[in-house]
Amino acid sequence: MKRSPLNPVSKKRQKLNVARRIFVKRILEERSNCEAQIPGVCSNWATDVHEIMTRARGGSILDEFNVLALCRRCHSFITENPAFAQEHGFIVHSWATSADLIAADRAREVYRHG
Ligand SMILES: [Zn+2]
Repeated sequence: MKRSPLNPVSKKRQKLNVARRIFVKRILEERSNCEAQIPGVCSNWATDVHEIMTRARGGSILDEFNVLALCRRCHSFITENPAFAQEHGFIVHSWATSADLIAADRAREVYRHG
């Protein structure tokens, strides 16, 4: 009996996955400390790469300016608290303009350093 794979991955998608793995490795090597530093949450050691504008919202998963290196705990907190994440610039809407992205950068700076 002939079987086809349950979840065929296109050649294009395979290439993206390889590029993403290389990208994630590089980001975590270059940015080893968590970039959220949420008080009472953070464990500091970055293990995850988080998109400020998610892929689902049209953000790039291969753009170093669209990502944050995060510890697992801050990443979970950001995912579970979207209003908090939005307020402090850890996520942006799909309709965010370049001015909104700059404002998000600023909000993160203020959150981390006052
Ligand atoms: Zn953290």
